[in-house]
Amino acid sequence: MKLIFERSTPGLSCEVLPPCDVEPYELKPEQRRGQELRLPEVTEGEISRHYTQLESQTFGVNSGYYPLGSCTMKYNPKINDEIAGLPGFSDIHPLQPAHTVQGCLEALHLAERLFCEITGMDNMTFQPAAGAHGELAGLIMIKKYHDSRQDEKRNKIIVPDTAHGTNPASATMAGFTSVSISSGSDGLVDLEALKAAAGEDTAGLMLTNPNTLGLFEKNIVEIAEIVHKAGGLLYYDGANLNPVMGIVRPGDTGFDIVHLNLHKTFSTPHGGGGPGAGPVGCKAFLSKFLPVPRVEEKDGKFYFASDYEDTMGSMKAFYGNFLIVLRALTYTLTLGRKGIPEAAKSAVLNANYMMKSLEDLFQVAFPGRCMHEFVLTAEPLKKKTGVSALDIAKSLLDHEMHPPTVYFPQIVHEALMIEPTDTESKQSIDEAVKVYRQLYEKACTDPEALHQAPVKTAVRRLDEVTAARKPILRYNFD
Ligand SMILES: *Cc1c(COP(=O)(O)O)cnc(C)c1O
Repeated sequence: MKLIFERSTPGLSCEVLPPCDVEPYELKPEQRRGQELRLPEVTEGEISRHYTQLESQTFGVNSGYYPLGSCTMKYNPKINDEIAGLPGFSDIHPLQPAHTVQGCLEALHLAERLFCEITGMDNMTFQPAAGAHGELAGLIMIKKYHDSRQDEKRNKIIVPDTAHGTNPASATMAGFTSVSISSGSDGLVDLEALKAAAGEDTAGLMLTNPNTLGLFEKNIVEIAEIVHKAGGLLYYDGANLNPVMGIVRPGDTGFDIVHLNLHKTFSTPHGGGGPGAGPVGCKAFLSKFLPVPRVEEKDGKFYFASDYEDTMGSMKAFYGNFLIVLRALTYTLTLGRKGIPEAAKSAVLNANYMMKSLEDLFQVAFPGRCMHEFVLTAEPLKKKTGVSALDIAKSLLDHEMHPPTVYFPQIVHEALMIEPTDTESKQSIDEAVKVYRQLYEKACTDPEALHQAPVKTAVRRLDEVTAARKPILRYNFD
């Protein structure tokens, strides 16, 4: 398709600005651009076509099945957007006086209470813009906690080998050294390995539960004991809260700090680098380290408070991605006390149903009951036919289905990590199972067809390494 600059015709435009009704102001030469601003010149109709065409080349949850493991790409009810779009929420300015935005502050205050209730935490900040950003905030809190006790030798964060790459990255960014511990043959944290790693230099443990293999860390209480006894804190990576929300509270199983990915569990659109929110909750003894400002209430009035002596400062301008918090709040209030655990159970049921429907063909990496996602390995298939997990993923594109996460977690060879999500019907899962089974058969009879896939998409196999290492992000005008 043509780029917007290639659609440009000199002189065309869509007049959107009213005539100037204020005194013109002449900028000083040094304040001016050295060169005319190069904008595409197109009509409103052309812009509309451009974006519609772009949209048709993009695959989203609203286009079809999207079982991307570890990401919870579930359907986002439209009411969330409707509420977030109300002018009282969307047409405000972050510097507006607090008395003119009491409803917005009340929404943040209520969100803090509800998400603390769901996670078993005492206080929460909505500043971080994503899960990884929340991890950094949480780790800074861990650092400040140990520093406040003059316990400065604690410079190690323990991270199981099933963890998302952001965990060790965030630990490093916060100034810690991350220590990887390998999982047991059951895919769970190996208690002996944890005991061996935990000691006087342990600042904390980062854990995802259920972990990225879709398995619930059933020894979590013992894990928490080992880490606490060694003097460390427990950080909960909340990316996989979906199958346990409203059922198990991380705070009740020993975690001290939690982040949520509102753009995963709490039904906010994500992908393509759109805005997210990674609120961080903590137990009361850590609250003083939370970022500022925080929303407080006094005599029915809400206000921002920043006068916390031990705060880490701010993680982001203003108050985080407020409209994302509103979407999550709307979702949570819509489902309520009954609906939240029901959604969690549907996620688990759907994943187990799909796993059972495929396990006679594709090998399940860690057999047994799964939570909201499961990991298959295409290794036996590859040995037999030469068809890899990547070939399966690319072939799914020709069936208008988003591939699952592949080659993660790294401890499983040729991994296909599937998360059907709670919002899929039995029909759509059955449809997906049918396609996976067809692809398996095709791999056995005509592997070359899978090596060639995709053939029906706008672009074929891309050079992903070059795209990542040498991205072309600007239009070349010459
Ligand atoms: C997505 C994810 C993260 C990172 O969250 P972002 O919001 O993408 O920054 C961390 N851990 C796990 C297990 C995840 O799935």
